Amino acid sequence: MDNDCLFCRIIAGDIPSSKVYEDELCYAFRDINPQAPVHILVVPKKHIGSCGELTEADGALLGRLFAVIAAIARQEGLENGWRVVSNVGPDAGQTVPHLHFHILGGQRLSDRMA
Ligand code: 5GP
Ligand code: ZN
Repeated sequence: MDNDCLFCRIIAGDIPSSKVYEDELCYAFRDINPQAPVHILVVPKKHIGSCGELTEADGALLGRLFAVIAAIARQEGLENGWRVVSNVGPDAGQTVPHLHFHILGGQRLSDRMA
């Protein structure tokens, strides 16, 4: 755990969050500033800065994270479609330096762009 990391502190329960799912490797919670009707963040409990730090050794963890992402999308009723996004670095708008996958759903992308 990185005490200076917002998401490490959320995972530890030091900062409250609206939890959606938790297991020994992953934590999922609702985004505080949703950009879609369903906006959930899925993170590894282990501190990893971003997708830019991943190696092949993280394969099992990524498998778990994506299985959790798919299960949450089903649970949230997003069978019509959804997006999964991970921003890396300042040019992409990453604001929290702890790897996270955004699940965005509940509205058509074409309607959002309109
Ligand atoms: P990024 O911009 O790094 O890809 O995404 C960070 C996300 O974390 C943003 O969508 C932002 O709304 C969310 N966020 C920032 N601080 C908090 C917080 O304290 N609680 C929750 N639930 N989400 C947060
Ligand atoms: Zn962290």
